[in-house]
Amino acid sequence: MKKTTGMDRKTTQKWRPATQAVRGGTWRSEHGETSEAMFLTSGYTYDDAQTVADRFAGDAAGMTYSRLQNPTVAMLEERIALLEGAEACRAQASGMAAMTAALLCQLSAGDHCVAARAAFGSCRWLVDHLLPRFGIETSVIDSADNSEWEKAIRPNTKVFFFETPANPTLDIVDLQFVCDLARAHEIVTVVDNAFASPALQRPMEFGADVIAYSATKIMDGQGRVLAGAICGSEEWITETLMPFQRNTGPTISPFNAWVVHKGLETLSLRAHRQSENAVALGRFMEERIDAAGGHMRHPGLPSHPRHDLATAQMDTTGPIFAFDVGTRERAFAILDALELIDISNNIGDAKSLMCHPASTTHANMADEARAAMGVSEGLLRLNVGLEDIADLTEDMDRALGAAGV
Ligand SMILES: *Cc1c(COP(=O)(O)O)cnc(C)c1O
Repeated sequence: MKKTTGMDRKTTQKWRPATQAVRGGTWRSEHGETSEAMFLTSGYTYDDAQTVADRFAGDAAGMTYSRLQNPTVAMLEERIALLEGAEACRAQASGMAAMTAALLCQLSAGDHCVAARAAFGSCRWLVDHLLPRFGIETSVIDSADNSEWEKAIRPNTKVFFFETPANPTLDIVDLQFVCDLARAHEIVTVVDNAFASPALQRPMEFGADVIAYSATKIMDGQGRVLAGAICGSEEWITETLMPFQRNTGPTISPFNAWVVHKGLETLSLRAHRQSENAVALGRFMEERIDAAGGHMRHPGLPSHPRHDLATAQMDTTGPIFAFDVGTRERAFAILDALELIDISNNIGDAKSLMCHPASTTHANMADEARAAMGVSEGLLRLNVGLEDIADLTEDMDRALGAAGV
């Protein structure tokens, strides 16, 4: 297969992100198709025995088995690596497959991992329950407090693991500070970049080592497939991730990879428009939420404690924000009064979606741990979509009114 005629990695790396998103990682077959082909094959055939022997020995490039390589998956990986500014990328079956692989491939019994307290429920489960089962020590800290990162370091600290913005509390981590600190102590940073995506934030520009994603969210962007990805240096991917990945099999299906690959072509447009809508809706709501005794958590609004940092390290602040209305009863009343915005625990979709994290995405956590990370009974999380902002504002106005906010 030819890559886009004559376009090797040296050329595609020079393109601007908008060009990379539609043309990076395009390999054309002899048919010259415009849209990238979907290779639904688990295996490969070879012209002779030596060819396959060389590939298995690592002496020749080429596909051997779709748990390890697939042309459609490879196109997705190349496009994501270009957008992220990473040397290499490996796609995964889901965001959680990516998080699990990114941690377990490099941590061993006796190592220590420092993780952000504010995190997606399943990410916290990995840190609180899975890693300790294998003798890996973990500490959970307030990721928005720079001094806590420093204080948590032990002689055996091997990994810093965090998301920014965090799901669903929208805590912002100081990428430059935390990555510099990690470098100084030879600690590997693993950044979950699901909320921003490479269209809005590229943690490697601040010195992050490993970026892991749920591509299910805004990278697909239309709520169709589960997908994930891990980016890192060529050396880290080959020597640290791949021995784990090739033998444990968190591989993405070529069909899902193809859907995300096509989604990336419009990622930047969607992410920017959804961010604009989110700021506009947040501005409309803020005074009313404050007056009712609640509060907004929106990195795009000046009231966010790290608004300046968020706007400095992100291109724009993303489609998701949260707000607290005091009680579960009131939160449910708002959800039940929505007519346009759907009740859904998904995010990143072009459709606006709202959920109550305490009873859904974070329901499997201990009450105290959930409260400590700021997921209160009155918290609602909103993914703002691509609908007309006037329709979104009308729906929110009605729903808040119905709940007496
Ligand atoms: C959704 C999400 C995940 C998990 O991704 P899946 O694709 O659902 O497995 C991990 N981290 C964050 C921040 C998320 O929002």
